[in-house]
Amino acid sequence: MEHKLTRRQFLGITGGGVLSLSLSNLSFINSAFAGKEFVEYEYRSWEDLYRKQWTWDKETWGVHLVDCYPGNCLWKVYTRNGIVWREEQAGIYPGVEEDVPDFNPRGCQKGACYSNQMYGPERLQYPLKRIGKRGEGKWKRISWDEALTEVADAIIDAIKEQGPESIVYEHSPGEGGYVHGIVPGVRLCGILRATQLDLDSVISDFNAGIYTTFGKFQFVSSVDDWYHADLLLIWHMNPVYTRIPSYHYIPEAFYKGTTVVCIAPDFNPSAIHADYYVPVKIGTDAALALGMAKVIIDEKLYKEDFIKEQTDLPLLVRKDTKKFLREIDMRDGGRDNQFYFYDKKSKSIVKAPRTTLKFEGDPALEGTFKAKLNDGKEVEVVPVFELLKEHLKDYEPEKAYRICGVHPDTIKMLARLMAKSKTHILVGWNSAKYYHGDLIERAQCLLLGLTGNWGKKGTGTRGWCEALLPGMISFVAKRAPGVAGSLETLNLVNEYEKQILKEDPEKPHETVVIESEREMIKSRFPLSPAAFYWYYHANYREVWNNKEWSDPAMKRSFDDYFNEALAKKWWDGFVRPGPDVTPRVLFQVAGSTLRRTRGGLKMLLNYLWPKLKMIVTVDTRMSTTAMYSDIVLPAAGFYEKVDMRFPSPHIPYLTFTDKAVEPLGESKPEWEIMCLLAKKISERAIAKGFTKFTDRYGYTVELDKVYDVMTFDGTIKEKDEEKVWEEIVRDSVMIGTLPRGTNLEVARREGIIRFISLGDRDAVALNNATDIKENETINPLKWHTEKKIPYPTLTHRAQFYIDHDWYLEGGEALPTHKDNPTMGGKYPFEMTSGHLRWSIHSIWVTNKLLLRTHRGEPFLFVNPKDAEKKGVKDHDMVKVYNDFNTFLVRVKISPAVRPGQVIIYHAWEPYQFKGWKSYDAAIPGMVKWLHFAGGYGHLRYWRWNWCIPQVDRGVRVDFEKAS
Ligand code: SF4
Repeated sequence: MEHKLTRRQFLGITGGGVLSLSLSNLSFINSAFAGKEFVEYEYRSWEDLYRKQWTWDKETWGVHLVDCYPGNCLWKVYTRNGIVWREEQAGIYPGVEEDVPDFNPRGCQKGACYSNQMYGPERLQYPLKRIGKRGEGKWKRISWDEALTEVADAIIDAIKEQGPESIVYEHSPGEGGYVHGIVPGVRLCGILRATQLDLDSVISDFNAGIYTTFGKFQFVSSVDDWYHADLLLIWHMNPVYTRIPSYHYIPEAFYKGTTVVCIAPDFNPSAIHADYYVPVKIGTDAALALGMAKVIIDEKLYKEDFIKEQTDLPLLVRKDTKKFLREIDMRDGGRDNQFYFYDKKSKSIVKAPRTTLKFEGDPALEGTFKAKLNDGKEVEVVPVFELLKEHLKDYEPEKAYRICGVHPDTIKMLARLMAKSKTHILVGWNSAKYYHGDLIERAQCLLLGLTGNWGKKGTGTRGWCEALLPGMISFVAKRAPGVAGSLETLNLVNEYEKQILKEDPEKPHETVVIESEREMIKSRFPLSPAAFYWYYHANYREVWNNKEWSDPAMKRSFDDYFNEALAKKWWDGFVRPGPDVTPRVLFQVAGSTLRRTRGGLKMLLNYLWPKLKMIVTVDTRMSTTAMYSDIVLPAAGFYEKVDMRFPSPHIPYLTFTDKAVEPLGESKPEWEIMCLLAKKISERAIAKGFTKFTDRYGYTVELDKVYDVMTFDGTIKEKDEEKVWEEIVRDSVMIGTLPRGTNLEVARREGIIRFISLGDRDAVALNNATDIKENETINPLKWHTEKKIPYPTLTHRAQFYIDHDWYLEGGEALPTHKDNPTMGGKYPFEMTSGHLRWSIHSIWVTNKLLLRTHRGEPFLFVNPKDAEKKGVKDHDMVKVYNDFNTFLVRVKISPAVRPGQVIIYHAWEPYQFKGWKSYDAAIPGMVKWLHFAGGYGHLRYWRWNWCIPQVDRGVRVDFEKAS
């Protein structure tokens, strides 16, 4: 007998879980097999069910719309009777370059159980309204109309009372898709002039040191390019945990002879598979790198031509002021961004070219020279390289050893190895989360520069790059659909660019595109770093002014620097919501501010939450922030809508996900939710008689027309997700990043489509500065090394010397080592972290299948000797504490952990901890004072860049057995 299980029956039986279906139905197997009645046993549908797992009605493509960077793994999704039954890695990525392994198979254990996850108990199916206190867990199911009315009313009231900046929309990497994740919220908030919190500023995935050096950090190789390296330095990354589908390139490179070195304080899972494991004391990596740089310079192993051409090391610096020699010093009315070399050929001080890196002379790297100033005075000037040599005297390998704990012989060995190898530094976003992580990255970049290791295959470093579909940007910005609307937006951008070039025709194209985007953000999409919002509205001012937790090199209080930055207008246009606006509505899609804001469980809940009149979470599942929200709106799952994962040159493919089944319960795709909200805002604005307002920048918003603007006068309505997809892709084809003819039909057929160029519109894509070739791996920065195009920095070169007043004051003009501040107080243990192997991002962390693959609850790794000293045994519950806060967690004893270190991998939901207090509770959420610097070349905020992120690594704690 075949029992046809309908979708409704299925969900009824499972109570939402595929797994529970199979297991609960298997529970009667033993009795069934026990006696002869088995023969007559009538109901055999469970067996049919089991057998028919391997049959299906429909096969579609799927991808997971989360930031499991770089993700983009294509899956085959199998559906039967309206239920997604299972998925399987597609494995269709073609080989790109001869002799280089292909991308297959892409996928990880999380992706393999998404069909289980989408029917899991935490899945949201209906709009919910809080009926108890926030976080009390009491909810009422309401209709979409009721929910949207409440949210729309709160938005309109907030605008009336405080202005549009009081509506805060926090971006999230959980919004991994374009059609539904990023586009709808950004477009609606742009129309409403609501505050949008910069993504990198809230997740801290900003590599400030790479940015300081190159004027950008969002350049990456395709992951298959790792295979070309002779030396892979895994340094502040743990790819065995965090790059599961891409990791295979590391052992594949290893088997062809690449040396793999893992540098980390703990013997982490990636260290196990390396040729060398280099244990470094926590947060002291800059000393190690500078020790290596010292060896490379002393032994003259550096690539002289490369550093003369690509870097600022030959630029002259005044010995009296420690500032670059500028044209303005030499003649009245001269430029303040014209710099100089000493040319050994002409034996004179000459201008460094600004429009190219090519120079016919021979810039000196060493020596002291005399420059005549405009007042007739003569001053001594030296190349940056001379200053560097002097600076590195503090990093003799023996001295560096005393700081970082790496033996001098190992430092020398690594330096010599790197100098002769095509080297790629595999850096993740671990360094970015150290207080002085920028110094660590600057020192790593210095090593790459000295050894000529970027802009050719198998070399470089990496940041976080979401780009290659510029149609996403034009879609959120344009006023009319189709090509006409795109051209109108592009013309606007062209106008900005012309104005920028008028001021300085010698600006590199990359800088021009960055600056025009910056203007666009300021005037049309109020995007801001979150630091000001936290400072003014969540009382982080008190935390950041704690001297003991800050950099001892600060000569003044934090507030002093903060106020100076504002007084000098370095952040003008980006301080939102400022002190004169009280935030009233907090909105997020697939984000969880209470889970990820460092110290947020204390600071946001205590100080910000009382000010908010409406907290709205749109998500597929119940997150901790959803628990503390007023209204929760259920979003359709990844296989319940048409979308594409945000792309990156790491995996240079558009990866398509199709609508395999209808959204579960009453959940809706985010595009539909935002359009319906826009409609409701228009309706309620009319009903309330408040249909128009003008924001502080003079921009007038007609609230009764929000829906019309959102949907391009009804041409792309709430149900038109496929049209949104087509718009984004068509604009990207027009800009040139995708091949002609790319459309929905092709995506449905092929699943993946390889990008063909960076285009010339999206600043983040342009940061890669390279051509995408059909049969080659991608390596960034080649336009600089091969075409000699300048960098988007102040000096137009890779810049190791920063002569900003604050950098000079803080002793950070050159890459240097500074100890991690005692954040949290003077406690004996340093707490570190990283992404959790079993979840990467929190979406998966409560999944039952995955919980069964480990202890099923949060745990803290502790070294056995430390555990013994503390009288703690494996699996004991401990109280972890510092001056900021405490939390309870189980201990997992592991000799892989360094004595004095405790590790808690993150992404756990706070509600998985006792009292809903996660390890984030004990992290004060410091920001580095120097990151408020501005008014200096590339040290300026723009989307995802120079965005003042919080730090969390190396926080001081102690622990004791919980009673
Ligand atoms: Fe790939 Fe991310 Fe899905 Fe894992 S979760 S299979 S890494 S897209």
